[in-house]
Amino acid sequence: GHHVSSQHVRIRRRELQCRFDIEKFTPAFLSIYESLVPVDEEIVKQKQLLLSLRKLVNKEWPNAQLHLYGSCANSFGVSKSDVDICLAIDDTNMSKSEILLKLADLLQADKLENVQALTHARVPIVKMMDPVTGIACDICINNLLAVVNTKLLRDYAQIDERLRQLAFIVKHWAKSRGVNETYKGTLSSYAYVLMCIHFLQQRTPAILPCLQELEATCVVTIDGTTCAYFDQVDRLRNFGVQNNESVARLLWGFFQYWAYYHDYANDVISVRTGRLISKQMKDWTRRIGNDRHLICIEDPFETSHDLGRVVDKYSIRILREEFERAADILQYDPNPSVTLFEPY
Ligand code: ATP
Ligand code: MG
Repeated sequence: GHHVSSQHVRIRRRELQCRFDIEKFTPAFLSIYESLVPVDEEIVKQKQLLLSLRKLVNKEWPNAQLHLYGSCANSFGVSKSDVDICLAIDDTNMSKSEILLKLADLLQADKLENVQALTHARVPIVKMMDPVTGIACDICINNLLAVVNTKLLRDYAQIDERLRQLAFIVKHWAKSRGVNETYKGTLSSYAYVLMCIHFLQQRTPAILPCLQELEATCVVTIDGTTCAYFDQVDRLRNFGVQNNESVARLLWGFFQYWAYYHDYANDVISVRTGRLISKQMKDWTRRIGNDRHLICIEDPFETSHDLGRVVDKYSIRILREEFERAADILQYDPNPSVTLFEPY
């Protein structure tokens, strides 16, 4: 049967409201966005570091490749982010741990600082700091799916600048409010960016297309997973022009959605399809091991992978209270571009 909860009643009440003066906060949110975007000098330093690491690594492994991934390459990185690098290597004689330990030796010998091999982490990495540029860096091995999902995010960002504006502000909010910490059961930056992409795919008229539903112009298979999507995004630059919503209105809508509209019991957000899909369809209705599926965000390529799986019954409450707080601030607060980011 269909279940009408008190939450639905609340949804109806909110639906009637729309803050008529929301647009006037766009300049303030845009200036926060501008202050978070890294300056060119920083990007240059990251490239320098990558080049010097390539030299070092190729001396030992001539066929190995280094790829930037994560926020330094997906265009959603704020100033002074750590740099994430993936070492793609095809050495059948060495285990992943052996490669990491060898890499750590090479880095140490090359005078990089705080070199640490974390061979037992969920994603094993070598951490280090480059004293020349001051950049902190994590290097993982053969995590090529992350390199491809990095490219997908970067390609989406090129279609409409409102995606970067929205996602930078959402990430800044999440960091300020302590809800961007997967080890504490809240969501990763990657998950928040997917939530923003999905939200913009869902606007009417849509601000973003669904790249995986269009003709595939980029196809790679990694560990048996085929990643295919339309990546000629310069042909989609005008996609969202029918929709003239500003970043303040989109932020308001984003938090309204996660506070009062999203059906946590039944729905999965899916950037892959550009739609909501049902938990039932994915068989995400039961708890299996540690996967509780209390907020469901489908990975665009590893489709069995729920990015909300880190969320538990305690942290879901915190998360939803934060969504409600943010929605209410955007609805009623006289100074939302300040109050939204107040430390918790
Ligand atoms: P931040 O600015 O917070 O460092 P980030 O974009 O680097 O943001 P992370 O959450 O640190 O985000 O993730 C780094 C990269 O690792 C992501 O861009 C993504 O490519 C990959 N990644 C992270 N978490 C997952 C995951 N659960 N499944 C698949 N890939 C992931
Ligand atoms: Mg990162």
